[in-house]
Amino acid sequence: MQQFSYSRAPDIAAALQQSKDHGESKYLGGGTTLLDCMKLHVETPAHLVDVNHLANRIEVKSTTIRIGAAVRNSDLAYHEVIRTKFPVLSEALLAGATPQIRNMATVAGNLLQRTRCTYFRDTTWPCNKREPDSGCSAIDGFNRSHAILGTSDKCIATHPSDMCVALIALDAVIEAEGPRGKRQIPMRDFHVAYGEDPIKESVLEAGELITAVEIPELPFYARSHYLKVRDRASFEFALVSVAAALQIEGDRITGARLALGGVGTKPWRATEAEQALVGRHPDENAFVEAAGVALRDARPQRDNGFKIELAKRSICRALGVVARMK
Ligand SMILES: Cc1cc2nc3c(=O)[nH]c(=O)nc-3n(C[C@H](O)[C@H](O)[C@H](O)COP(=O)(O)OP(=O)(O)OC[C@H]3O[C@@H](n4cnc5c(N)ncnc54)[C@H](O)[C@@H]3O)c2cc1C
Ligand code: SF4
Repeated sequence: MQQFSYSRAPDIAAALQQSKDHGESKYLGGGTTLLDCMKLHVETPAHLVDVNHLANRIEVKSTTIRIGAAVRNSDLAYHEVIRTKFPVLSEALLAGATPQIRNMATVAGNLLQRTRCTYFRDTTWPCNKREPDSGCSAIDGFNRSHAILGTSDKCIATHPSDMCVALIALDAVIEAEGPRGKRQIPMRDFHVAYGEDPIKESVLEAGELITAVEIPELPFYARSHYLKVRDRASFEFALVSVAAALQIEGDRITGARLALGGVGTKPWRATEAEQALVGRHPDENAFVEAAGVALRDARPQRDNGFKIELAKRSICRALGVVARMK
């Protein structure tokens, strides 16, 4: 591991200042991704600003819930309001990693976790994301776990987060504070697909600190579900995952939220598929059609064509579960 210095910020203003004072610095949450990447020489910050104790409250407001950036994944998953009013988020969090990691991992760190592409984490392989214009080892390599949506000829890595798939389905908003002040970033604009510039993963600017995530509370979010399909039942990233919510009035769908994980270079909101569901009976025909729409633009690689059918079936299964919820 390369040498680095460390400071613990007493508050947000000090965190911003400490980051500014040490050019090549990174914020430290639970450290469950960042320190791994540092040990592998994939990330080499010269300074860490520890913020893992700041902004760790969950505030239930009249029409939203505001989650501090340093709230632990476990605390969020087991919060009574999250479990009952946003079950898709609770389920997504509990489907991620292991209890030990969830006890350390923060909301902000989860938002900014790095891809699990094995070529990215092994510095002996060329990787455009690690080293611009060095090439992508995955395109002609072993790419079973890689993305089929939002890919480019420079990078096909999947975004690994489960939590982010639920957050994008729920229209969450990220609050950030940086050298240019405070701003709110809708979750659907926060991550960027790894297109022409695989190094850029979010719209967050250098030195900007995530302070909170806010989710609007819509009654039908209580009718939501997260389905994760993976090679083993625990301690494993998604091959395909689905976050789904349905608003059903009478015998018709009047609102839908659908997002996919494990298949996109960013948490993937399937907006057109949502529109295809509205006005339909909540039945298998509607779900199959929506799944087709969601995967219409999929571009498989040599080893991951199976993800298209797997994603379609997972969408139908997740929507079926939600439709049967009372
Ligand atoms: C073995 C293992 C299995 C896993 N399995 C899964 C899984 O199945 N599903 C899943 O979704 N995840 C999984 N994860 C990833 C895990 O969810 C992340 O490691 C965790 O969420 C990162 O949170 P952290 O607080 O530890 O982040 P850190 O490692 O502290 O930081 C991650 C990034 O966020 C930045 N950062 C942290 N806080 C802030 C802030 N407030 N503002 C700006 N930047 C900030 C850091 O600078 C760094 O770049 C797994 C991890 C491991 C090690
Ligand atoms: S898929 Fe992306 S992260 Fe993986 S080797 Fe290619 S450029 Fe690197």
